[in-house]
Amino acid sequence: MRRLRNVKIVATLGPASDTYDMIHALHVAGADVFRLNMSHGSHDEIREKHRIIRQIEQDTGSTIGILADLQGPKLRVGVFAQESEQLDEGDAFRLDLDNAEGDRTRVCLPHPEIFAALEPGASLLVNDGKIRLRVERCGDDYADCTVVAGGVISNRKGVNVPDVMLPLAALSDKDRADLEFVCALGVDWLALSFVQRAEDVVEARDLAKGRAAILSKIEKPSAVTHFEAILAASDGIMVARGDLGVELPVQNVPPIQKRLVRKCRTAAKPVIVATQMLESMIESPMPTRAEVSDVATAIYEGADAVMLSAESAAGSYPVEAVTTMNNVAIEVEQDPTYTQIIEASRITEGKSIADGIVSAAREIAETTDIKAICCFTQSGTTALLTARERPRVPIIAMTPLVGTARRLALSWGTNCVLTETLDRFKMAVVAAARAARSEGFAGPQDQIVVTAGVPFNVPGSTNILRVAPCDERLIFSTDPE
Ligand code: PGA
Ligand code: MN
Repeated sequence: MRRLRNVKIVATLGPASDTYDMIHALHVAGADVFRLNMSHGSHDEIREKHRIIRQIEQDTGSTIGILADLQGPKLRVGVFAQESEQLDEGDAFRLDLDNAEGDRTRVCLPHPEIFAALEPGASLLVNDGKIRLRVERCGDDYADCTVVAGGVISNRKGVNVPDVMLPLAALSDKDRADLEFVCALGVDWLALSFVQRAEDVVEARDLAKGRAAILSKIEKPSAVTHFEAILAASDGIMVARGDLGVELPVQNVPPIQKRLVRKCRTAAKPVIVATQMLESMIESPMPTRAEVSDVATAIYEGADAVMLSAESAAGSYPVEAVTTMNNVAIEVEQDPTYTQIIEASRITEGKSIADGIVSAAREIAETTDIKAICCFTQSGTTALLTARERPRVPIIAMTPLVGTARRLALSWGTNCVLTETLDRFKMAVVAAARAARSEGFAGPQDQIVVTAGVPFNVPGSTNILRVAPCDERLIFSTDPE
């Protein structure tokens, strides 16, 4: 489905969006990638959403990316006798390994590894940081805390331990089972929650065995510290601002977002800016001005994708939320200041032939009247390098591999077209011209840039750039084989 913008939209599916009609409406409104949150829903429910998305893909003739988000080592307290308790500032509160029901004075925290790593003075944050506890004394099976910020604590609320590098396995038993399930089902991206170091990513990659690309969620201070190594080990990144803003002072999040987006752009790896982008639209058909500015900022920074969480998964206005993002994106990208900012922040690294070709393609598109850059890509790398250039004209990624096309659904500006397996460059140029016309990017009088690697089917061999007419009779009469 042709979009009038370059930034991509990721929509999380949930109870508000679990039918064919709703998911179809979200796709038509602008969702390019759907996120399946493995923290919620049974395998049967996930399988059904997956089936619906693939059906919509067929019915609309689009390529849609599916991102399965693994829960990761999310820490939770146990349960309370009264279901919930009010904790007030100054109260003493104990966390321990006793799985008896909790009360005003204590609750179970069923994670011995946390107690082993805690030290007096460390902060424990409960319920998205609403409750803050300071550790006074601790041992192998308890931590005596003082309530620094009070609030209501209830069954199985999440716990963050920002100050401590936890010796947690990156993947729980549930994550391993979920990973195997979604890889067998056929998802395009696997998102890893609470990544702390590059080794966590390597572990997941070994299990995925190439069946899905790996996206690391940056939501722990240690992930920010080890970002370079994590980026090098990952295929993509999510700036997971929800947990990040709990684990770090909130004012640290915008500069981190800017830095991470820059680094991902430099590395030619897609980056999603996520969480609370249009939070008020969970309950309201209209966003706040601040939310619109937040979405716009991520787009001006050149992020590959912006994401909806509860807005599309559990809110009352999922379609309106996607439509809002789509409208903001179209408006921002038409702003001449956007082009200036994007071009001023372009960082081209690398000195390979492919780097030279994609940068030449972008320059030709800047200085002459070219309607699109069509790149033939097997692994997707050439399309990613072309997207890194952030060219002014649309990118058409031509690939025989549906998996490559679906993964590229997350990448800035890439429009994917499936081709037959080609072996002659002339036929590739013809296929590119046809695709540019049929997708509505060019007319018969127009010209496009075509890049490819010859011989075909050898990954990483991009070595040809051709400025071609869109009228295929001209191609047949002028081009050599
Ligand atoms: P979550 O991750 O929605 O899975 O918590 C995103 C975030 O923390 O921002
Ligand atoms: Mn999170």
